[in-house]
Amino acid sequence: MVGSALALALQDSGLEVLLLDGSALSVKPFDAEAAFEPRVSALSAASQRILERLGVWDGIVQRRSSPYTDMHVWDGSGTGQIHFSASSVHADVLGHIVENRVVQDALLERLHDCDLGLLANARLEQMRRSGDDWLLTLADGRSLRAPLVIAADGANSAVRRLTGVATREWDYLHHAIVTSVRCTQAHRKTAWQRFTDHGPLAFLPLERDGQQDWCSIVWSTTPSEAERLMALDDVAFCAELERAFEGRLGEVISADPRLCVPLRQRHAKRYVAQGLALIGDAAHTIHPLAGQGVNLGFLDAAVLAQVLLQAHERGESLADVKVLSRYERRRMPHNLALMAAMEGFERLFQADPLPLRWLRNTGLKVVERMPEAKALFVREALGLTGDLPALAKP
Ligand SMILES: Cc1cc2nc3c(=O)[nH]c(=O)nc-3n(C[C@H](O)[C@H](O)[C@H](O)COP(=O)(O)OP(=O)(O)OC[C@H]3O[C@@H](n4cnc5c(N)ncnc54)[C@H](O)[C@@H]3O)c2cc1C
Repeated sequence: MVGSALALALQDSGLEVLLLDGSALSVKPFDAEAAFEPRVSALSAASQRILERLGVWDGIVQRRSSPYTDMHVWDGSGTGQIHFSASSVHADVLGHIVENRVVQDALLERLHDCDLGLLANARLEQMRRSGDDWLLTLADGRSLRAPLVIAADGANSAVRRLTGVATREWDYLHHAIVTSVRCTQAHRKTAWQRFTDHGPLAFLPLERDGQQDWCSIVWSTTPSEAERLMALDDVAFCAELERAFEGRLGEVISADPRLCVPLRQRHAKRYVAQGLALIGDAAHTIHPLAGQGVNLGFLDAAVLAQVLLQAHERGESLADVKVLSRYERRRMPHNLALMAAMEGFERLFQADPLPLRWLRNTGLKVVERMPEAKALFVREALGLTGDLPALAKP
């Protein structure tokens, strides 16, 4: 998703761009009746703007997207709760839940329509410096030479490993179970999140033909609990899920096949080196409770594109680490701040000692009564604040 967005942002620049990916890069015909894909993203208003300007958003809406206007968060072991709404900041929506496959297909459709180079089924295996260039070797033996390589190859980035970029990593000791479920009550375009004793449980609203009875769930829990839940049959899983969610949307009547993903936070110590830049999950992975991973990635892509286009106009060398550092200086503090906030949040909600439980419960209640503080949070979540790149500016 992030690499494709960057490539599109560089179209018509006169730069010679080649996007290579280990997958087939083919667009699947969209079937409106098909089951929901288990992997979804909550796209912020800032991401929507970037995708609109890249000519991708219409392709998403024509396929399938689910706008949500409200968010409800509560502490499962207390009475603290908080409610956010788009109307509090005079916005129409807080964001859209979109299947990752839909985002990828809409991006790919645009990529196939423009004159950027695409290399499918190109799995990178080796990479080393050769003079001022990188020499890349693919799994099928082909090799390529490039002065600038941008790594958008995800959480287990091969580029990051092959170039020896160090990371700080820590295990959340959590696995996330993801799937789509059907409930007896409508989700009312609301994203729901309950903090359970084992970790956060999110119900994200999905819409098909105007029906509001499906949700995508992200259930973060301990590895042993995840193993137990994954082994349950569908009926028992739905019953456990309904109990963990306090039946807020009535009965959970069916669940699609489940995926279980180990959660690990990673942050590259540097995003750039001579002839190299890391963007998206290759640079940072964050707990999904924030729903921000790909949103941060799209902002990385928009900032890096702006830095490269400006440098190109000025006739500077795009591979120069001094040029690439402009991207790192803008994005790293923002990404680190959000990751630290999520880490603190996650720890606070995992904490068992009574004073911390009291703190989070009281904190939720206090903030709930502070409309200005809530509006600030909503603006931040919409991506309407801070140092926005041109592609994301209102
Ligand atoms: C349970 C869960 C829920 C989440 N929910 C949200 C959410 O609500 N909102 C949100 O914003 N984010 C969410 N995220 C995070 C989001 O999914 C990621 O941030 C996003 O997928 C990262 O996109 P990316 O393009 O950087 O990397 P990826 O999507 O991982 O893409 C990497 C690409 O690199 C290619 N590749 C990899 N290795 C090689 C190689 N060696 N050679 C060639 N190609 C290669 C792959 O084929 C792929 O196309 C969630 C994550 C999880 C685990």
